[in-house]
Amino acid sequence: MSLDNKPVYTGGCQCGAIRFRVEGALHHASICHCRMCQKAFGSFYAPLATVNEGTLTWTRGEPKRFKSSSIATRGFCADCGTPLTFEADDGVALAIGAFDDPAAVMPDKQWGIENKLPYVDTLHELPAKRTEDDEEVSPFLADLRNYQHPDHDTEAWPSEPKQ
Ligand SMILES: [Zn+2]
Ligand SMILES: [Zn+2]
Repeated sequence: MSLDNKPVYTGGCQCGAIRFRVEGALHHASICHCRMCQKAFGSFYAPLATVNEGTLTWTRGEPKRFKSSSIATRGFCADCGTPLTFEADDGVALAIGAFDDPAAVMPDKQWGIENKLPYVDTLHELPAKRTEDDEEVSPFLADLRNYQHPDHDTEAWPSEPKQ
């Protein structure tokens, strides 16, 4: 929340070259199963939150854009490839996973279900494990260095050279 009680959302790409800020309530949040969203996100579907006009600011960098159809443009980080936007005449939508707190942006509608992948509805039934409970990965997790931008704004990034 800002001082005048407006909700504030921040986020950005994985490498931190691009950061955004939304001041005020989001317009709407949904997932889209259409084939173009699957391809653009490299995923089963696209989670997207549309912003109200005039509430979005790019606070570091700006997405590179690909015109994916005659009516839509998709923004992404040219440095790390993180999908960031879906943009059309009626507004801009941001990728929910790119928000610093994606848990705060809950979708309430699905689009393009004619292209929904057949296993999407049963994914939650797959065998599941916490990362720290996986004995095969724990030895190298101890030495892992994380180069992902943290889930908050930073003065400068990266803060130290990669090793
Ligand atoms: Zn990036
Ligand atoms: Zn779509």
